[in-house]
Amino acid sequence: MAQIGTDQQRAKALLEAGNVVGIPTETVYGLAANALDPDAVVTIFRVKNRPAFDPLIVHTDSLDKVTRFVTDLPEAAQQLAATFWPGPLTLLLPRQPIIPDLVTSGLPTVAVRIPNHPLTRALLRSLDFPLAAPSANPFGYISPTTAQHVANQLGDQIPYILDGGPALVGLESTIVGFEGGMPTIYRLGGLAQEAIEQVIGPVALRSHSTSNPKAPGMLSSHYAPRKPVYLVQPGASPPPTPRSGALVFRELFGGIAGGNQRTLSPTGNLNEAAKNLFAYLRELDQLEIDQIYAELLPPEGLGRAINDRLRRAAATA
Ligand code: AMP
Ligand code: MG
Repeated sequence: MAQIGTDQQRAKALLEAGNVVGIPTETVYGLAANALDPDAVVTIFRVKNRPAFDPLIVHTDSLDKVTRFVTDLPEAAQQLAATFWPGPLTLLLPRQPIIPDLVTSGLPTVAVRIPNHPLTRALLRSLDFPLAAPSANPFGYISPTTAQHVANQLGDQIPYILDGGPALVGLESTIVGFEGGMPTIYRLGGLAQEAIEQVIGPVALRSHSTSNPKAPGMLSSHYAPRKPVYLVQPGASPPPTPRSGALVFRELFGGIAGGNQRTLSPTGNLNEAAKNLFAYLRELDQLEIDQIYAELLPPEGLGRAINDRLRRAAATA
C-alpha cells in the first residue's frame, strides 16, 4: 500500500530509481515518472490502465528547462508562459527528440506545464529530468484532488504519494496549442478562456471531439463517476425521486434528500465550485443512490470548464 507523506527526498529518490510517485499540483494530483525514461513512463500507462494513444503532460519548473524540450516557442506561447506560469496552463509545442515517443503518443508536439505547487516545484527543481504526469486516477474516472483520493484507487500499485493538501484549483489544466499559427484551446480547464484572451486576443476552441487521438484526451465519456449522471439546465429541477443524489451550484433541489446533495458554491463563486467539483462527485458516487443529477453552471469563467466535465461525466460513450 502506498505511503502518504511530505518527504520530498523520498519522492526524489523513488523517481530517480525509475518509480512512479503521486504528486500534488494546483490542478489535480498527478501520477509522475521520469519523462525521459520510457521504462518509467510505461509504468504510468500500466498503473492508470491508460491507452497508449492518450499522451502525457511534461512538468518542469522553469522556462529555461522548457526550451530544452521544444524546438520553437511562438510569440503567443511566450506571452502566455510569462503571464500564467507557474499555473493551470499547458502548452502544446513542437518537441525535441529528447522527449520519448511514448510521452507524446508519437505526436510531433509535446504538452508542457510549470505547475504552481510549492512542494512539487521544489521537487522538480531538485531533479535533473522533467516529470511526465497525467492525473492520478484510473483512466476515465474522476480526477483526484487529494492524496487520499489517489491512495483509494491506485494505492496498491504505487510506493508513495506526496501530500500537498487539497488541490486549490481542482480542475485539470487548460491546454493551448498553436497549430497553423492559430492559438487554440484543446481542453477547457483551470485557466479561464477569458483570461487567455485578455493576453493574446481571440482563441479558437477545439473541444468535444470524440475519438480523434490528436484531440487531447477529448474522449466524450471521461471524468465519469460509476453512477449514471443526468444534466439539469440552470434554473430547472429534476424529478423528485427517493434514490437520487444531486450536485447543485448554489441551492439544493426540492424533492431530493439534503444529505444526498452537494452544493458547489453557496455564494455562486465559480472558482470555489471548481475546487469542490471532483471531491463532491466522488462523495456522491459513494452514496446509496441510483443516479446523480448535476446542475449546469453559468457558461462563463471556470463555469465553462466545469460544464465540460459534467457533460463528459454524463456521456455514456
Ligand atoms: P491528464 O493529465 O490526465 O489530464 O492528461 C493529459 C492530457 O493532455 C490528455 O488529455 C492528453 O491527450 C493531452 N495531451 C498531452 N500531450 C498532447 C499533445 N502533444 N497533443 C495533444 N494533446 C496532448
Ligand atoms: Mg486525466
